[in-house]
Amino acid sequence: MIDILIGGGGYVGLSLAVAIKKAAPHLQITVVDAAPAGVWKKDERASAIAAGAVNLLKTLNVWDEITPEAEPIRRMVITDSKLSEPVRPVFLTFEGNVAGDEPFAYMVPNPAMVGALRKQMDALGIELLEGTQVLDFSIGDTAAHITLSDGKTLDARLLVACDGVRSKLRDIAGIKTVRFDYGQSGIVTTIEHERPHEGVAEEHFLPAGPFATLPLKNNRSSLVWNERTEDANRLIAADDFVFEAELERRFGHKLGAIKVVGGKRAFPFALTLARDFVRPRFALAGDAAHGIHPISGQGLNLGFKDVAALAETIVDADRLGIDFGQLNILERYQEWRRFDTFRMGVTTDVLNRLFSNDITPVRIARDFGLGLVDRMPGLKNFFIRQASNVGGSNDPKLLAGEMI
Ligand SMILES: Cc1cc2nc3c(=O)[nH]c(=O)nc-3n(C[C@H](O)[C@H](O)[C@H](O)COP(=O)(O)OP(=O)(O)OC[C@H]3O[C@@H](n4cnc5c(N)ncnc54)[C@H](O)[C@@H]3O)c2cc1C
Repeated sequence: MIDILIGGGGYVGLSLAVAIKKAAPHLQITVVDAAPAGVWKKDERASAIAAGAVNLLKTLNVWDEITPEAEPIRRMVITDSKLSEPVRPVFLTFEGNVAGDEPFAYMVPNPAMVGALRKQMDALGIELLEGTQVLDFSIGDTAAHITLSDGKTLDARLLVACDGVRSKLRDIAGIKTVRFDYGQSGIVTTIEHERPHEGVAEEHFLPAGPFATLPLKNNRSSLVWNERTEDANRLIAADDFVFEAELERRFGHKLGAIKVVGGKRAFPFALTLARDFVRPRFALAGDAAHGIHPISGQGLNLGFKDVAALAETIVDADRLGIDFGQLNILERYQEWRRFDTFRMGVTTDVLNRLFSNDITPVRIARDFGLGLVDRMPGLKNFFIRQASNVGGSNDPKLLAGEMI
């Protein structure tokens, strides 16, 4: 019997394995990932990583490996205007650091993050089975009995589902979700531009949803371009000329000539919240527990908070000689994370509904609200602290950069 089996080797599964093993090296942990070996290297996306998550990655000894690829976000600019309007007034800007010279977020290419976490897993001796799925499991008194797609069976004191928003493990555990499909998809691609972005991220609210440009290294930016799903699919299928012409209408010429340098893919958006996070000997973490709209770039950051809270719960119990697979222990993790997750899910949902429309009175009211916030430094600092995910009184230790 092993101690912990993690189903899903994305950012959340990998970082959870590293966080637990660093604090409790005697625990035997296996990570099982469905994706064939090497697929993660082909992911062209990048993620906004908040300062709290950076603290966690530093404490796990992976941040130094990521730093050369990470671009600090120094300023966030929010604009709200129709495409046809010749001038795009800026309604709100956020700038500043959370502590010292530490920006409130960084843009990190996904393969850089996964590569660094995998290296640390190797160094700690954590087993990783690639190209293998968790097919089925049942829960016994002392262990979860797990069947893998290669025919192997395994017993683990705890099974953690980190298998993403369409979690099969969540379904097998009989955990229901609240789900709302936005009918929107985000087109993700990378562009190169003539002039430097100076670390500025921009979110332009358009009727179909936000058009976000996020700074990367070397005069490049990552785009998350929201459209109604049928329009997004049409744009992805269109030839390069049509795609680039539509892109230019939205991006404008502020950074000179632009060129698409990455592939393009559309991701459908939905709000998915699990009703429970735990069962005896079973826990959900990351998107398996909550899939939210990426309007505020917080999905993975929520996942890292789960990692910090679950690792601390497991390690604390283990140090006291308590069986961490028991429901009453896992409920501590659920209580810790459920309200924050629900709050972020509702906040992103409201923001998306408020900004993804073109109803004139709503537009006037929201622009007035943005203008007010822009003139209130105290409120802006509050939002920066919220976006950076640091300084909460109930934060798990890893988010504050403390060892568990
Ligand atoms: C367009 C877009 C932009 C985004 N931008 C941001 C951002 O800027 N900042 C941010 O914080 N978040 C962002 N997010 C959200 C973020 O990408 C997710 O929150 C994050 O990927 C969740 O990580 P995860 O490890 O929980 O799940 P995933 O990344 O989905 O990983 C799940 C893993 O489980 C594996 N798996 C699946 N089924 C099984 C099985 N049965 N057995 C074993 N393995 C299995 C898969 O192979 C995969 O490796 C964005 C999302 C989208 C769609």
